[in-house]
Amino acid sequence: MNKNCCDIDACTACSTCAALCPVAAAVREFPGPKLAGPAAERFRRAGARDDAALAYCTNCKTCEITCPSGVPVAAINMRARAEHQKKHGRKLRDWLLAHGEHMAKLALPAQPLADLGMDNPVTRQVLKAIGIAAGRPLPKYARRSFLRQFGKLRQQPCADKIVFFPGCFTNYNAPEVGLDLVAVLQANGHEVVVPKGLNCCGLPLVTGGYLEEAEAAAKRNIAVLAPYAAAGVPILAACPSCGLMLKQDYRELFAADGAAEVAAKTYDAMEFLLELRDAGRLNTAFKPGKARYLYHAPCHLRAQGIGRPTLELIGALPGVTVADLDAGCCGIAGSYGFKDDRYEISMAIGQELFARIKAEQADAVLTDCGTCRLQIAHGTGAKALHPVSVLRKAYEPAYKL
Ligand code: SF4
Ligand code: SF4
Repeated sequence: MNKNCCDIDACTACSTCAALCPVAAAVREFPGPKLAGPAAERFRRAGARDDAALAYCTNCKTCEITCPSGVPVAAINMRARAEHQKKHGRKLRDWLLAHGEHMAKLALPAQPLADLGMDNPVTRQVLKAIGIAAGRPLPKYARRSFLRQFGKLRQQPCADKIVFFPGCFTNYNAPEVGLDLVAVLQANGHEVVVPKGLNCCGLPLVTGGYLEEAEAAAKRNIAVLAPYAAAGVPILAACPSCGLMLKQDYRELFAADGAAEVAAKTYDAMEFLLELRDAGRLNTAFKPGKARYLYHAPCHLRAQGIGRPTLELIGALPGVTVADLDAGCCGIAGSYGFKDDRYEISMAIGQELFARIKAEQADAVLTDCGTCRLQIAHGTGAKALHPVSVLRKAYEPAYKL
């Protein structure tokens, strides 16, 4: 664990974070980032306070994005929450949500039975009994994981290599996103490598309060990725939360050798493609289209401080327009919105985004995060896509894998 993490003395009590925290706006019981984070931490470190309200924090990082003093408020909250949960115990529901990778590995061999089983009213009753929100649709598992399909692809060999960190959602639930990224990179003269030995980025473990397990997961990933980083090979994540873990949280939370080197070579997928464009290396042989998209920037993409590459890349496609929704957090925050005692909060946070989407006429909503896509589809009924899927279509049929 990084002993230097979570400097609270930099907080000047300016309250900027408090004004923008989506949870504080939706839940009276949550005192907000400043009070739950650096202010309460002083008392916690003196052993005088044990704060159950920390369970409301979604780890959306809006506080960190907005803090002018660089206080890692969300990291402070996650560490304090883990300590609180160690003392007070955890629910089965929270263990299951934190260990989604284990659950997917168990479920995948039995897909589609697993999906049918999840939709079964009896299963939903059992899930409700352990605290999974009855009104929340569960994501379907893919018939074949990304890794299984990737292993069968025949890529064009290229001198330029890319390491792709697929993450759990792409691997088990949305393999088409990973396959679309491979096709787009191949169309741009890059060969994709997915090294063996990668596991979940560890974010569900961090938010679930299992920091030791998250650290072990982080160290396994770093051990696999560090040799590629040292060789100068870019590492891409198509999920902003995985990307933020690799870029920031591994360094911030865990003192792992190689974390800084891996962070320096990690890119969000669309960020990398925009860099190719800026270097004059993006293949721009796009076929003309006709579409209007809306774009939702996930919190963990905004926390990366890379702007909104999707707006530039998709907006430059012939015949395509894309409008920035700019409506803050969607509210789902990974597994947060699946909890029965957080579902209403999650939907309340997403209201502004839902209203803007419903007020617009568009072919689809684009967003980089898999669970944001679930929330948008649930909250609005709109079709939600990863932007790389739109790019892939713009290259077809010339670059079909
Ligand atoms: S991480 Fe998000 S929910 Fe948690 S305190 Fe910061 S802004 Fe609020
Ligand atoms: S954490 Fe940052 S934004 Fe929040 S009160 Fe302190 S200095 Fe201000």
